[in-house]
Amino acid sequence: MSSSRYPASVDVAIVGSGPTASAYARILSERAPGATIAMFEVGPTVSNPPGAHVKNIEDPERRTLAQRASEGPGAGAETVNSPGAVKSGERRARPGTYLMADGYAFPGEDGMPVAAMSSNVGGMAAHWTAACPRPGGRERIDFLADLDQLLAEADRLLGVTTTAFEGAPFSGLVHDRLAAAVDGGRAPAFRVQPMPLAVHRREDGRLVWSGSDVVMGDVTRGNPRFDLFDESLVKRVLVDGGRAAGVEVEDRRTGGIHHVAARYVVVGGDALRTPQLLWASGIRPAALGRYLNDQTQVVFASRLRDVSPGEGENRTDGALSEQSGVTWVPYTDDMPFHGQIMQLDASPIPLAEDDPVVPGSIVGLGLFCAKDLQREDRVAFDDATPDSYGMPALRIHYRLTAKDHEVLERARQEIVRLGNAVGEPLDERPFVLPPGASLHYQGTTRMGEYDDGESVCSPDSQVWDVPGLFVAGNGVIPTATACNPTLTSVALAVRGAGRIATELAGAAELAGALLMSDSDNRMTEQ
Ligand code: FAD
Repeated sequence: MSSSRYPASVDVAIVGSGPTASAYARILSERAPGATIAMFEVGPTVSNPPGAHVKNIEDPERRTLAQRASEGPGAGAETVNSPGAVKSGERRARPGTYLMADGYAFPGEDGMPVAAMSSNVGGMAAHWTAACPRPGGRERIDFLADLDQLLAEADRLLGVTTTAFEGAPFSGLVHDRLAAAVDGGRAPAFRVQPMPLAVHRREDGRLVWSGSDVVMGDVTRGNPRFDLFDESLVKRVLVDGGRAAGVEVEDRRTGGIHHVAARYVVVGGDALRTPQLLWASGIRPAALGRYLNDQTQVVFASRLRDVSPGEGENRTDGALSEQSGVTWVPYTDDMPFHGQIMQLDASPIPLAEDDPVVPGSIVGLGLFCAKDLQREDRVAFDDATPDSYGMPALRIHYRLTAKDHEVLERARQEIVRLGNAVGEPLDERPFVLPPGASLHYQGTTRMGEYDDGESVCSPDSQVWDVPGLFVAGNGVIPTATACNPTLTSVALAVRGAGRIATELAGAAELAGALLMSDSDNRMTEQ
């Protein structure tokens, strides 16, 4: 008999260790401290505490190693940091992520050439930009009456602040120039403002970027009933009598296959791999993988006008320099794109190769467009072709509609207008990144108010018709958001975790009551 590092059974098995899976661990640790929880992550631990953002690693060599170790089957490939890679249209991943080897585009379709994933403790949130804007207008999920409360909880879990770049020498100037161009006629919530960021400042002044470590918090790390197992691939969700009953796990260190029984299973494996795991488990609701959407991204760069050297200073220790902060131009239903304007060395995509004359004076502008949602846009799975983890290979079918092209054209014009408002544009035309570049994939396990065949899970994120099985991540978001989605998907996870905690508490109460009545009966019999 093979020995196993896993428990035979737990109350809750969590697949993945990104911020949404970690939100389940955190809320359960807070609200159901008696519950046993096992979290399984296919990738290795790359930072300390586990799940911490790699940008917090001060030594550049160690940081690069952590990024490489997160790139799963793509480790060692060229990344966008190689000069000119994005502009030449080459398929390259962001550091810490990897691209699909094949199946990302089919003839006559746009596909998602740069759809990417991360495989490491902390998921993509060990590599993200940490922008956490709230959804507005039609981005919001109108059937969730408690959405604002959930978003506030998500702010708490992610450690979101709007003050991290306060005092950055150019941030006021960027804000004022954008506000003059944008704010007219907008309600206060939709005006130009500092981007809410999951980042805080340490006492010594250094910035700390939130990752899953912050979401888990001390309460999860100190929970004696919580265990995190890295290098552990969940290959199947086990179902018994129609109810989630556990997981089948491959220990990537030994190759051993093990079953862990669980009363609840939460799958938070990202918007491509969560539906993959459900598919591999024979759980195949009609909407699984459908309504896949990504936010088409237009980028541009501008050199700030009228700034003088000495207003900012460049950091030389590899940490983010802090001249212009990150500014948010919110989405509106009339202008269905979300704007993120930041100093170039804060951007995940290099836009300019020349050194700015004034340190920090080149800003990158990015507009993310909301997608025209289509049922046919989907990730499908090929049972006959295993991917590099031995799971059914991903096959992406994705098209931009006429409406998408129209919104994209408006975004192009708007970004040029914004670039001119802040300074002197570096290029004549903005460029559009290939589909998948936003890293914000949504819809594939979408939430619905009712089970009408167009959604995969309930407003509590429980998969229709499979009690005890919950899904987490951006795939759960049913709307076409243009804003960065992680805050919203963590908010949805808070709701799902709350539902599990309530059910566990109810079951514990019932068990306690049964025990009491049993002992009463025995006392009466004596
Ligand atoms: P992930 O973070 O993707 O984690 C999923 C985890 O599940 C992975 O670690 C994976 O290995 C694991 N997994 C998958 N399948 C299995 C399995 N079968 N068994 C075991 N483990 C499995 N978002 C924003 O909102 N704002 C931003 O500013 C932003 N900037 C970004 C910049 C970059 C460079 C990158 C890479 C991402 C950015 N994102 C941003 C996206 C953000 O990181 C994701 O939205 C977020 O991490 C999603 O969280 P998640 O928990 O759903 O999934």
